[in-house]
Amino acid sequence: MSTASNVPELFGSMVFSETVMKERLPKDIFKKLKKTMREGTAIDADVAAVVATAMKDWAVSKGATHYTHWFQPMTGITAEKHDSFISPTDDGGVMMEFSGKELIKGEPDASSFPSGGLRATFEARGYTAWDPTSYAFVKDGSLYIPTAFCSYTGEILDKKTPLLRSMDAISKQACRVLKLFGKDVKRITTTVGPEQEYFLINKHDYAQRKDLIFTGRTLFGANPPKGQEMEDHYFGSIRPRVAAFMQELDEELWKLGIFAKTKHNEVAPAQHEMAPVFTTTNIATDHNQLTMEVMKRVAQKHDFICLMHEKPFDGVNGSGKHNNWSLSTDEGENLLEPGKSPSQNAQFILFLTAVIKAVDEYQDLLRISVASAGNDHRLGANEAPPAIVSMFIGDELQAVLDAIESGADYTDMTKTKMSLGVPVLPSIPKDTTDRNRTSPFAFTGNKFEFRMLGSTFNIACTNIMLNTAVAEELRVFADELEGAEDFPAAMLKLVQREIKAHKRIIFNGNGYDDAWVVEAEKRGLLNWKSTDVALPHYTDEKNVEMFVKHGIYTPTEMDSREETLLEEYAKTLHIEALTMSDMVRQEIVPACIAYEKELAGAVKDKKEIGIAGGAEQSMLSDISALTDTLYTKCTALEKCIADVPDASPEDIAHYYHDVVIPAMEAVREPADKLESKVGKTYWPFPTYSDILFYV
Ligand code: ADP
Ligand code: MG
Repeated sequence: MSTASNVPELFGSMVFSETVMKERLPKDIFKKLKKTMREGTAIDADVAAVVATAMKDWAVSKGATHYTHWFQPMTGITAEKHDSFISPTDDGGVMMEFSGKELIKGEPDASSFPSGGLRATFEARGYTAWDPTSYAFVKDGSLYIPTAFCSYTGEILDKKTPLLRSMDAISKQACRVLKLFGKDVKRITTTVGPEQEYFLINKHDYAQRKDLIFTGRTLFGANPPKGQEMEDHYFGSIRPRVAAFMQELDEELWKLGIFAKTKHNEVAPAQHEMAPVFTTTNIATDHNQLTMEVMKRVAQKHDFICLMHEKPFDGVNGSGKHNNWSLSTDEGENLLEPGKSPSQNAQFILFLTAVIKAVDEYQDLLRISVASAGNDHRLGANEAPPAIVSMFIGDELQAVLDAIESGADYTDMTKTKMSLGVPVLPSIPKDTTDRNRTSPFAFTGNKFEFRMLGSTFNIACTNIMLNTAVAEELRVFADELEGAEDFPAAMLKLVQREIKAHKRIIFNGNGYDDAWVVEAEKRGLLNWKSTDVALPHYTDEKNVEMFVKHGIYTPTEMDSREETLLEEYAKTLHIEALTMSDMVRQEIVPACIAYEKELAGAVKDKKEIGIAGGAEQSMLSDISALTDTLYTKCTALEKCIADVPDASPEDIAHYYHDVVIPAMEAVREPADKLESKVGKTYWPFPTYSDILFYV
């Protein structure tokens, strides 16, 4: 299909959008549904029944035969179970039916989703509940209904429910703060634009590598003669095959109402990026999950495999996700937009201060939200920000904060007061010059860009942490300022105090520099280098207190989440270790033996006719020694996995980090050396050069 002329028509064509609702629903029902979408109120059974029928009729007209409650379990992927609309009729035929009850609630057999001990298998039932704030859509012949997922006893088992709650929490507190500025705002939403990185490789290469198939990354592979050092891939021209993929991807995403906007090559060979236009966090999350799925599917149609892993290739940049985040009122005012008028600046400064305080006090949670076995390969590896959370605000904004903190220009500033009674602060030009790419949490003009996420991550986690932490700070600010007699003076005092207390989190320098690690430690910032160290702090008292206070999680739910994540970490490494041993025994060692045999034959043959086999001889002994080492290390790794202690999830996670990972590295080293020594035709699978530099 050619899209040049019909993009507007194509866009959202598979979405049960507001326009479609308006068209297909009676006026009063549409109004009630809109109210639910806007205010999060419960939906009546009669409204649901009408909506369900309209949805079904529309979906059938788009070729759907099935429907599914689509949800986001704690594992980060999305889950779905499809039921057909078919219902038998008396005359032995069928009709297409979909009831309000089926729309509102589903009961997937949930026993196989991780619950971190929340749900014993005998009470395995969980239920899914329709989330009317995210649009339903048709994909692959099914009507997809975005839903939340709970256990029968009411504990939440997904990522959507806490995300929606965190959006409510921050809205509530931000509205209180806006009231102090004389604004009667009903609701604010957090907005997110997630940039997604990924690799495209040939299906043929992928199919020959068990490591890619089972773990999503290569566990072996010597560096190719050429890597990314020429810096010729970033923004380079896009290969025709890749361009064709990107075009189809755009079309498929547009149909689903996803604002795919920017596409380009990334730093590493075969690496690319897609950025959508930002939207409300809830929808951005659903859309990002869908984007990853559609990317994988469309890639296959072009004989590619889309690798979403954080570190598919050692020595080559990995893939991340940038979470661009801001706050906006229902009237569309961006609360992180410095603006021109002084009164707006004061408001901006207060929100900025809340974010600074939140990032400093909850740096642990932000770090935890990006912790995984895959992302451990990136953070701190000079391609992604370090594992230390810090903020970049730019020189201009820094100067404003310095002035406020020192009180230097304070008297000047307060001479003129606006009608709102807010002290005049200098106008803040947009920082367009220095976009510090090495900062984990950077102010980029009218939003913050959190850059520590891994490419496979569900962005819900990060945004739950961020929204709730900022909500908590706004709550504290509102509590203090609501009773103030002189609001401008009280506000300035608060801002001064908080900047002083939390400025250690601001770092405008080079985050990749080793000196920063030393400096950060002096400042008392956290530097949790690996997932097993970070995760156990999730349930630290202050974190539980915050989440409970804002109604996001119960303590039990937090325990279960921590446990699930720790188990996921250990499981990932376990599968990697097993795959390694498998590849060594079944593929690498046999290949080495075959080549050794060839060399030994050559040595013997040459000897027989009286020629010295010097080269063959030394290659043979070299390869033979390396093969012995490989075999020994592989046996040692197998023993490590057999000896996993019967301990708490935390201790097991430490064991994988401290014992299994080094054992895996010890296996990889001789294997990678062998790869560059064993004859090309003998090596059992495609190498980095083959995979990364295709045409
Ligand atoms: P860069 O690659 O320089 O970081 P991009 O243009 O690729 O910039 O990505 C910027 C992202 O930020 C886009 O997804 C954009 O929609 C998003 N964005 C812009 N404004 C906001 C905002 N107010 N809230 C959230 N995201 C935003
Ligand atoms: Mg970016």
